[in-house]
Amino acid sequence: MSRNLLLISTSTTHGTGYLEHAEEEIKALLQGKSSILFIPYARPSGISHKDYTDKARVPFEKWGISVTGVHEYDNPEKAVREAEAVFIGGGNTFVLLRNLYQNKLVQALQERVNKGMPYMGTSAGTNVAGKTIGTTNDMPIVHVKTFDALQLVPFNINPHFQDPEPNSKHMGETRDTRIAEFHHHNRQPVVGLREGSMLRIQGDRIRLHGPHTARIFLQSEKPMEFKPSDDFSFLTEAY
Ligand code: ASP
Repeated sequence: MSRNLLLISTSTTHGTGYLEHAEEEIKALLQGKSSILFIPYARPSGISHKDYTDKARVPFEKWGISVTGVHEYDNPEKAVREAEAVFIGGGNTFVLLRNLYQNKLVQALQERVNKGMPYMGTSAGTNVAGKTIGTTNDMPIVHVKTFDALQLVPFNINPHFQDPEPNSKHMGETRDTRIAEFHHHNRQPVVGLREGSMLRIQGDRIRLHGPHTARIFLQSEKPMEFKPSDDFSFLTEAY
């Protein structure tokens, strides 16, 4: 498989501008490309497709890459089939997945990405690259017919992964607890990606970029911390 993906935990880290922390990796992903198709369906804070695309356009244009929004096309599926590369932005994962199905983009994205079209996602756009959206942090604010995502990789991701505050008096579940609950009902591994982290996937090779370790959850095992230099290839096995 000639996959070429960049799955980013968050678009903006504390103290940096939109996509700034991932500039090097984005440029490497898009080497040789001059345009990218943006999918603004996740609509963070309810922003319009147009305004969201305008926001996404800013850093790419600085890097010499033109951006069009998928909503600008009469036939969004054709836009995906003809795109040089695709970027799905963050926001609400349920709203995003529902729109991907409603606009019949799921199969087109799977086929193009599996043939090597560069794909990048941030947050919700990273969630939908996984097997299901069952490990999103979002509220199910719209109804989706299925949690099955694009399945560009055979595992799930939990973006914006947060460690418990040692002195916190908060009694709600930790991420570890929620993901352990997920594993009572689902087998696939879950990668907890802290803000600033991203996974670069080229074929069957997976590498972690960014300043943090990633927390990996396998069913019936204790969570493990993996460093950027570690071997993540076991994640490509099917579950
Ligand atoms: N709402 C997140 C985002 O920024 C996704 C998540 O936390 O699961 O896209």
